Amino acid sequence: MITSFHPPIRTLMGPGPSDVSPRVLEAMARPTIGHLDPEFVRMMDEIKELLKKAFKTENELTMPVSAPGSAGMEACFVNLVEPGDKVIVCQNGVFGGRMKENVERAGGEAVMVMDAWGSAVSLDKVAAAFDAHPDAAILAFVHAETSTGVSSDAKALCALAQERGALTIVDAVTSLGGTELRVDEWGIDAIYSGTQKCLSCAPGISPISLSAKAVDKVKNRTASVQSWFLDTNLVMGYWGGEGKRAYHHTAPVNALYALHESLVILHEEGIEKSWQRHAFHHQALKAGLEAMGIGFLVDEANRLPQLNSVIIPEGVDDAKVRSTLLSEYGLEIGAGLGDLAGKVWRIGLMGSSANRRNVTLCLSALESTLL
Ligand code: PLP
Repeated sequence: MITSFHPPIRTLMGPGPSDVSPRVLEAMARPTIGHLDPEFVRMMDEIKELLKKAFKTENELTMPVSAPGSAGMEACFVNLVEPGDKVIVCQNGVFGGRMKENVERAGGEAVMVMDAWGSAVSLDKVAAAFDAHPDAAILAFVHAETSTGVSSDAKALCALAQERGALTIVDAVTSLGGTELRVDEWGIDAIYSGTQKCLSCAPGISPISLSAKAVDKVKNRTASVQSWFLDTNLVMGYWGGEGKRAYHHTAPVNALYALHESLVILHEEGIEKSWQRHAFHHQALKAGLEAMGIGFLVDEANRLPQLNSVIIPEGVDDAKVRSTLLSEYGLEIGAGLGDLAGKVWRIGLMGSSANRRNVTLCLSALESTLL
C-alpha cells in the first residue's frame, strides 16, 4: 500500500537544493489563503521589497516567477530577445549552453564565446566578439557557474556591454545571497535566480529583475513575446503596481510564504554579512580539504565560496564515496557534470548550509570514508 512520504533527514552540501531552514519549512505549512486576498497581496509587496534589497536594485520590475530557475532564465530570454537579435553568449559550463538554446528558440542569433570548464569568462574574448559583431544587442553570461564552481567578473562584463551599447542578461541562480552582486551599481539589465541555492528556500521559484532599459525593449517589441505565461507585460498585471492585482495565474501561495520567510532571514542577517559568512566557511572547508591533500578545480581568484569543485583523489571510487556519505552520514555532495563526471565532487556551502557544523561534518565524513 502506498502511504505518506516521509523523506530521510539529510545534510545538503551539493549544488542545490541547500538545507532549508526550519523557519522556512514552518512558513510553508501555514494556512493557504487566496492569491488575491488583501493579506496575501500585502505579503507580495513585501517579497518585492525584500527581493530588491537582495538584488541591490530599485528596479520596479522585480518579482518571483512561479517556476524554477530555468523559467527565470527563459523569462529573461523570451522577453528580451526578438527574432533576428544577435546575442553574445558566454559559455564556460553547462548553463551557458542553455542560454544558447534559449536565444535560438526565441529566434535570435547566438554568437558564442567559449571558455574552458573551470575558467572564468574571458573579458578579452568578449571584447573581441563585440569588435566582430558591433550590432550585438545583448550580452548573456552566468555569474556563478554551478557546474564548475567558477565566478565570472559580472561588474566588468556589464561595463563592457554598456560601452558597446548592449543589454545584459545575467544568470545569478547560484550567486544571489552567496557572493557580491550589485544589480544597479553594475548596470545589469536582466537577472534571474533560484530559491534553492543561497536563499535556502524550497526549490521551485525564480526571482527576476529587469532594468528600465530592459523594460523599454520589451514594451517596444514588434513581435509579441512567444510565451504567454512568461510575458512580463501580462504577468506584471498580477505582480506590478502597488496593491492593484488582477488574475494572471494561481500563485504558488505556500511556496511564496517560504520565499518571504527566507528573504526575511536574509534581511535579518544582512546581505553583506551573508556574503562574508559564505567566504568564511569556504576558507574553513578549503583548509580542511587541503590538509587531506584534496585540491580545487578552479584558480583561487575565481573560486565561488558556495560551490567548491574539488579534484577526486587518484584511485578513489567517486560513486562509492558519495553513496557512503549519503547512507552512513546522511550527507549529500554533488557529482561532476559532463566532462567533469568522475573527476570532481561539487561541495556546496549555500545559504543556511554554509555553517560550521556542516563544514565539520563534511570534512570528518570524507576523511573517514577515504581512509
Ligand atoms: N542556472 C544555473 C547557474 C543553475 O545552477 C541552475 C540550477 O542548478 C539553473 C540555471 C536552473 O535552475 P533550476 O534547476 O531551478 O531550473
